Amino acid sequence: MENEKVRIGFYALTSCYGCQLQFAMMDEILHLLDKAEIECWFMVERDSDEDREVDIAFIEGSVSTQEEVELVKKIREKAKIVVAVGACATQGGVQSWGKDKELSELWKTVYGDAHVKFEPKMAEPVEKYIKVDYKLYGCPPEKKDFLYALGTFLVGSWPEDIDYPVCVEC
Ligand code: SF4
Repeated sequence: MENEKVRIGFYALTSCYGCQLQFAMMDEILHLLDKAEIECWFMVERDSDEDREVDIAFIEGSVSTQEEVELVKKIREKAKIVVAVGACATQGGVQSWGKDKELSELWKTVYGDAHVKFEPKMAEPVEKYIKVDYKLYGCPPEKKDFLYALGTFLVGSWPEDIDYPVCVEC
């Protein structure tokens, strides 16, 4: 990556887009952009090209449809480093809490008889389907953690795992 811009993709699965919003609201990102190129960012352009090769893929959201299974596999093929971002991507998120119930039962409770084109699955963390290289925990992750991880990658190093207390007072 030396002397070349680091290519970044930011992808969303089933999520609230809050992690991407946190990323977008960091003024410091502007200072990093002379070292990086955003190749794909679902929040900015939902139809952005997910087929592009990237150096770092940030993935927000849980894997909750068959289409998302295929998407994370494609991202893994195209990315050198995959980072799972936030509680949904790292642990499945709130949407994974109903695992003791049948998916059809949960679906009917929320959507009734609505018909959809996609094939829903129980929400799962990204690493259930692909190898994840680094995780940023939180809902959403703290800005300082984003900056630490991204900044470390941009200088060609590897960030240490971040310890997360159960609560901010701990
Ligand atoms: Fe939204 Fe939290 Fe999931 Fe991020 S981890 S997408 S902020 S619900």
